[in-house]
Amino acid sequence: MPLRLLEGDIITTKKKHPCGSFDFEITRVGADFRMKCLGCEKQIWIERRNLEKRIKKVKREDKEFKKEDLIIKDYSSNY
Ligand SMILES: [Zn+2]
Repeated sequence: MPLRLLEGDIITTKKKHPCGSFDFEITRVGADFRMKCLGCEKQIWIERRNLEKRIKKVKREDKEFKKEDLIIKDYSSNY
């Protein structure tokens, strides 16, 4: 199920980046997503499907969301 993800979201992944960080910032939303590792600043392109699989939680404007909170149930609204 698709998740509502926005540019600027800070995501925590299940697997850590080789540098040891679990946190990434989403810098581009589209068919492919781009995210920046907050440990080493490396930019990574990733397919939406793969990204969604890796996400554990999302931080947005000081609020923390679990994956289930971001599932898009109403397709007509934004996607
Ligand atoms: Zn890194």
